[in-house]
Amino acid sequence: MDKLARKYLRARKIPSTACSGCGLGQCHKALVKALADLDYEVDDIIWGTSIGCSGRQTFATWNGDNFAGTHGRVYPIARGLRIAMPDDMKIILTVGDGDAFGIGFNHVLHSARTNTQMTVLVCDNLGYQSTGGQFGWTTPPGIVTDSSPYGMSEPNWVQPDMDVLKILKEAGATFLARHVSMDGAALVETLKKAVQNNGFSLVHTVFPCTTNFAKNALGSRNAVNIFNWIKDRAAPLGEETEDTIWRTGVYHDASNSRPEFSQALKKQVSDIQRRFQDEGSH
Ligand code: SF4
Repeated sequence: MDKLARKYLRARKIPSTACSGCGLGQCHKALVKALADLDYEVDDIIWGTSIGCSGRQTFATWNGDNFAGTHGRVYPIARGLRIAMPDDMKIILTVGDGDAFGIGFNHVLHSARTNTQMTVLVCDNLGYQSTGGQFGWTTPPGIVTDSSPYGMSEPNWVQPDMDVLKILKEAGATFLARHVSMDGAALVETLKKAVQNNGFSLVHTVFPCTTNFAKNALGSRNAVNIFNWIKDRAAPLGEETEDTIWRTGVYHDASNSRPEFSQALKKQVSDIQRRFQDEGSH
């Protein structure tokens, strides 16, 4: 176990129970590296997880306080905790694409609207892989999945003209980015910015699923093939080619530009209390 894993993660959860060759660990490693670079201690963070591969593999992995929500409901739990927690502690959520952009999307929108401090790392395996590999909200068009044997026919939310990050920007999110898990240092740098935002941050990160996505889409569970397939279809913003599906980098950075939800609420409550105290003393 490496130094960072020893410091931040529970030994009994290492190695992860993810399938052999799964790219999920790359997402978690980048996040832990970002926290280490920022000198956060375990007690500075509360880590929340949800359902599916991304939630299931991460639950109780964090060595400090953590919680699990039901599918798509981790965000309102985080909003409640945010009010109860000291302002300088951070909330980090690792969730899947179905959780964030499907069943939980309404809650994500309202977390963005209220600019609640949380860093949402969306670990995207391009569909519902923990249930056998059905298509989801980010499955690329034409891709064969368990539920689209003739190819994914629906549009998805990563297309430039209907990108989910644009919706979240309009909803009020103050930091938005997209990466693939093999982005390494670039992903770490983005996560550092996301965590430092005193508001709502979301980093969408695509990772390779060897067991279901690769088997259905590429006809093989060969990990190298699916890693290369994703890597070849990702390019930094501004360097896209016609084969690019995932444009990577920071899409929107308005960090610390709007009041944070819980701090604004606490201020309002203390203003009201002061007003009543002043009125009572007259
Ligand atoms: S099903 Fe896919 S995404 Fe889920 S743990 Fe296995 S390889 Fe990873």
